[in-house]
Amino acid sequence: MTDITEHLSSVRERVRKAAERAGRNADEVTIVAVSKQQPADAVQAAYRAGQRHFGESYVQEAVPKMDSLRELDTVWHFIGRIQANKTRPIAERFHWVHTIDRERVARRLAEQRPFYAPPLNVLIQVNLGDPRKAGVAPEEAAELAAAIAHLPRLALRGLMTIPPAGLDERAASTYFARLAKLRDDLENAGFSLPDLSMGMSDDFEAAIAAGATLVRLGTSIFGRRAARPEPSPDGLGDGRLTAAE
Ligand SMILES: *Cc1c(COP(=O)(O)O)cnc(C)c1O
Repeated sequence: MTDITEHLSSVRERVRKAAERAGRNADEVTIVAVSKQQPADAVQAAYRAGQRHFGESYVQEAVPKMDSLRELDTVWHFIGRIQANKTRPIAERFHWVHTIDRERVARRLAEQRPFYAPPLNVLIQVNLGDPRKAGVAPEEAAELAAAIAHLPRLALRGLMTIPPAGLDERAASTYFARLAKLRDDLENAGFSLPDLSMGMSDDFEAAIAAGATLVRLGTSIFGRRAARPEPSPDGLGDGRLTAAE
């Protein structure tokens, strides 16, 4: 077995156990294998081991990789920061976008989503307190959800968050609980938000305990990433990833 195959079976087992401890069905949790800064070969190895959902953070890196893997039946998730003037390849190429944090971006994705493609599944990224991270403030989420609900070709699926870096699982848990609570409040206000994208390699079990339906796992599947990409001059992929991420 390759490392990737082994890592995948180990994270699947951990997902299953975390779901079980939370009284949830493991089928409710989708593993998004974060393949940013990993070569297409690594995606292929994970695919051979049965993985279908992949996450990318940099458009410029993702598009050629996706082209080279066109024959695979993959589901692509965009999980990086979005520049409002660089939305077209995201609208055209991805199945999910986890990082909507302003109406302008949502509007452009709706306009640019090809008419022949199914609706683009989108999540609102919520910033629960780290000013360096992207995301709407919790009190602005309802307004953005209402705006997205009126747009064609987008399917609003839920909320996403990234807790501040460097927290232990217990501290991260409080952020996951807050996102789940916000989702419940918004559902009580009439929105349908079945998905919660939260949890990364270091804290996904806590996220599953709090209700995550999409966990974004990079290093626990692929191992360490290559050095961060240089910030690109055209702004596609903003290079804001740090070694700690
Ligand atoms: C890189 C990244 C991940 C994966 O992080 P790991 O700690 O390697 O699992 C998840 N979510 C986002 C938004 C990322 O940028």
